[in-house]
Amino acid sequence: MSDVIRLLPDSVANQIAAGEVIQRPSSVVKELVENAIDASATQIHVLITDAGRTCIQVIDDGVGMSPTDARLSFERHATSKICSAKDLFSLSTMGFRGEALASVAAVSQVELRTRTAAEEVGTLLIVSGSKVELQEATSCPVGTNFQVKNLFFNIPARRKFLKSDKTELSNIIRDFERIALVYPTISFTLRHNDLELFHLPASTLRNRIVSIFGKRLNQQLLPLEVDTALVKIRGYVAQPEYARKKGAHQYFFVNGRYMRHAYFNKAVSEAFSRLIAAGEFVSYFIYLEVDPSTIDVNIHPTKTEIKFENEQPIWQILMASIKESLGKFNAVPSIDFDTTDMPEIPAFTAHHEAVSPPEMEFNPNFNPFESAASFSDQSGTAVKKSDKVYESVAINRSRPLSPDNEPIMSEASYTEKEKSVRNYQYKGRYIISSVKSGLMLIDQHRAHVRVLFDKYFLQLEQKQGVSHGLLFPEIIQVPPSEAVILKQIEEELSAIGFDLSDLGGGSFSINAIPSGMEGVNPVNLIRDMLISTMEKGVEMVDEMRMPIALTLAKASAIVYGQVLSEMEMNNLVDTLFACSMPKYTPDGKTILAVIDETEIEKKF
Ligand code: ADP
Ligand code: MG
Repeated sequence: MSDVIRLLPDSVANQIAAGEVIQRPSSVVKELVENAIDASATQIHVLITDAGRTCIQVIDDGVGMSPTDARLSFERHATSKICSAKDLFSLSTMGFRGEALASVAAVSQVELRTRTAAEEVGTLLIVSGSKVELQEATSCPVGTNFQVKNLFFNIPARRKFLKSDKTELSNIIRDFERIALVYPTISFTLRHNDLELFHLPASTLRNRIVSIFGKRLNQQLLPLEVDTALVKIRGYVAQPEYARKKGAHQYFFVNGRYMRHAYFNKAVSEAFSRLIAAGEFVSYFIYLEVDPSTIDVNIHPTKTEIKFENEQPIWQILMASIKESLGKFNAVPSIDFDTTDMPEIPAFTAHHEAVSPPEMEFNPNFNPFESAASFSDQSGTAVKKSDKVYESVAINRSRPLSPDNEPIMSEASYTEKEKSVRNYQYKGRYIISSVKSGLMLIDQHRAHVRVLFDKYFLQLEQKQGVSHGLLFPEIIQVPPSEAVILKQIEEELSAIGFDLSDLGGGSFSINAIPSGMEGVNPVNLIRDMLISTMEKGVEMVDEMRMPIALTLAKASAIVYGQVLSEMEMNNLVDTLFACSMPKYTPDGKTILAVIDETEIEKKF
């Protein structure tokens, strides 16, 4: 039998390795920027063309490479950073496997220009699919300039599976931010096509955080500082009053690397547990420094989970240090209150109060029980004896209302009523309606969310939203990562009636809002929409419609506590049942429940 085992050619071996290290354009950015940092750069420029599909360029002013090193840098396991396996455990640089450049070169066309301070001329090297095509002397500044073109040009299947530009660019921005947050003393820029997305001058950590995530964060941040034998902790946590349901920025780093750590995240939650409501989150930027031999560093370059030897004591130290910071800055209220027992009161936030519900007329002074009271003899008002239906109601209501103003209902009289009086409001929250099978309870806010969602969604699809011009345009300022997304949903927003203009530098002016949304704070609304689009990580324009329509519907739906007239209730119930899915809100919450007739009968 003939031999079957062959050695894979280098180029194939490299491609296989590349599959691990280089998964998408953002991996290239990450590897090149980390190399620049390891080369002691003070300025790093990242230039991206077409979300990295066409070109990724990273220019640094670091130590550069000699001609021989330049050539060697593309070999697998070529690294200047470790000499033996034991070095793996005392690592201070970011790269350590010498695999990144070989992998990048295996799946793209690379142009490298580099020069060390010791040399007069630099080196130009062109490598395509692991093959060196050119090496010659060139004149270039000290430092290194990598251009990575046509990623996956030789692996069509991988290239085809790149996600939309929006997603790939978001990934690049995410990885870029994670690195920029660790090196505030290095200046960074990030350009995409002709747009400068980030311009981050060398500064303090606090300024770096603020220039990435926006000025709003500045007043929120409380410093953290703790030194123990096991761990050094630095960074910032936001004050509890800035806790939000969505959109908090939460970052952990260990020894200069971004990491995710569910267990340490719990330590933060624990420290904040009595200060913020359940379901709310605060931003934090926490930097841990531990002995490298006590964490598992030899992990996969694309993984962000890290194992700690001393997880438990570090958890305690972390929690205590956050509590201390909160205490030091008087963020802890003197009265200890238990948030878990606090009822959720979504109805009366300032944001909602300003809402005027579209297409329905509300009389805020209307009391749905007034009509019932007027039938009562005690009220002294005349009873309309001529109306047979009302007569029976009057008999059933000829008792005073219960102390908390809840009417005593009579099912019999209820079903006899005309269509126009068949709905009842309960506790400012539910509409009670009599149906064949029993009693139906409809959550008024959720019902309206469903109705409005369907309306806005249709408007988005058909691009028929009606604008309401603002007399005084409002300005919204967003960080670069969000500006990219705002640009992408701009068309959808205009389809529904928004009119935005880009003022540059992350500023947009809001000139018009959808009609029917007057009274809603347009800046908050757009922020909410940005956050929900980012959280969904939507790929296609079509998929953005859902979060946009839902945010709008939630912001403008009637709130709990809002008193509804009979006509309003009828209207709402009728339009709800004209929807194709009246039972659930678009985000899956139950809108209605039926108490079965047999259940009611059992009670008697
Ligand atoms: P690693 O970073 O794990 O050592 P890489 O494949 O990323 O492996 O890089 C290989 C080597 O190329 C590095 O060890 C370094 O010596 C050199 N190198 C890469 N990028 C740069 C750069 N921007 N400036 C100077 N040297 C670099
Ligand atoms: Mg590297």
